[in-house]
Amino acid sequence: MNYFLTEEQQAIVETAREVAQKKVKPVREHCDAEEKFSWEAVEAMRAADLFGVYIHQNYGGLGGGGLELCLVVEEISRVCGGVALAIACGGLCSFPIILYGTPEQKKKYLPDIASGKKLGAFTITEPEAGSDATATSCTAKQEGDYYILNGVKNFCSNGEVAEVYTLFATTNKARGARGITAFIVDKGTPGFTFGKKETKMGIRSSPTYELHFDNCKVHKSQVLGGEGRGLFVAQGTFDISRPGVAAQALGIAQGAVDETLNYAKMRKQFGQSVLSFQSSQHMVADMVTQIEAARALLYSVTKAMDVDLKLAVEASEKSGKTVAEEMKKVSSGRWTKYSAMVKLFCSDMAMKVTTDAVQLCGGIGYMRDFPVEKFMRDAKITQIYEGTNQIQRNEIGYAVIKELAQKG
Ligand SMILES: Cc1cc2nc3c(=O)[nH]c(=O)nc-3n(C[C@H](O)[C@H](O)[C@H](O)COP(=O)(O)OP(=O)(O)OC[C@H]3O[C@@H](n4cnc5c(N)ncnc54)[C@H](O)[C@@H]3O)c2cc1C
Repeated sequence: MNYFLTEEQQAIVETAREVAQKKVKPVREHCDAEEKFSWEAVEAMRAADLFGVYIHQNYGGLGGGGLELCLVVEEISRVCGGVALAIACGGLCSFPIILYGTPEQKKKYLPDIASGKKLGAFTITEPEAGSDATATSCTAKQEGDYYILNGVKNFCSNGEVAEVYTLFATTNKARGARGITAFIVDKGTPGFTFGKKETKMGIRSSPTYELHFDNCKVHKSQVLGGEGRGLFVAQGTFDISRPGVAAQALGIAQGAVDETLNYAKMRKQFGQSVLSFQSSQHMVADMVTQIEAARALLYSVTKAMDVDLKLAVEASEKSGKTVAEEMKKVSSGRWTKYSAMVKLFCSDMAMKVTTDAVQLCGGIGYMRDFPVEKFMRDAKITQIYEGTNQIQRNEIGYAVIKELAQKG
């Protein structure tokens, strides 16, 4: 379907598709089997300028918005959802900097993320603080011009390979959610080390690590959005970043259908192609309809959100105020409801479509040396991270109740 992408957006899609086919596809099976991060794929994505499509030109990006990032993530995920995470995590790391960073923080960090020279990560989850991120027990105690970080973060995607980490810690436990502060922490800061690497069901080429902070000294200039404002930073980030998970889910579903159609067309049983059975065609019809509905929702939400985001980014470049402050002026409200909807819809769709893809391929669909089961394993995570789909439903339900109350 024609989504009336601009010439630049279409070029981004074609570039990402070519990189995915030529550089990601040849390594995906090995990286999945060995749980290996592919620096070759990263190098190809860097060379194709895919890391900074959503970052302003003043910081070396292409000047796009959330949609451009989603187009890249969708195309790479169509081949490998794990490799795509190298870029998607850069978005999750840098959106808090884009939204809440000072001009100095943006100048310091965004150019290297835009070029792909440095990978990014975002770390809020802890062993006892998952869906309830306010339960964070990682502490940041101010001593003069520094904060001293202590604690453990877990399940950090791009862990160990990333150079820049946006991190959330409590600066005042007694204040609960209002005591959380966001920081930017560089890999290599003394006291910051890596713990356990997780062994996973899917997205196995993406490293997921535990992070340890042991009297890790971070300068106060690394505070993001102000002390005690961390929860706003996290919420504002998720509003913009969740469509990235949706794009990963969409690409995974599309990739599963691509492989399934190729197979079902040539596979013969009872003297005819498996695809010629009407029951197969009905499954395919449902799969492609759900994919197109998901794509339509994702593109329309990100296009609309980008209108606000791009206006706010331009205004911030002129005023020196944060993008988050400028967003309040241009936006009719927060994007929480729609970004939750798009993440929920696309990830549930991907789980269903990839499960049906395995079914349609029969026994071979279940085998490790055939690519379809990997798409099903990769799809599952999109229903879990950046807030489980129960949490997305909570967010949407809360927004609806609030709107009703406002109407009176
Ligand atoms: C592979 C992987 C990569 C990840 N990458 C990152 C990362 O880069 N950075 C990062 O910070 N985190 C990351 N995470 C963490 C991820 O965001 C959390 O796992 C997720 O938010 C859920 O938290 P939890 O695992 O503690 O589950 P829990 O919060 O323990 O939830 C368990 C179950 O309870 C349900 N539940 C909990 N609270 C509610 C509620 N209020 N209402 C209804 N149901 C509820 C959940 O939906 C779930 O089904 C990653 C996780 C994985 C598995």
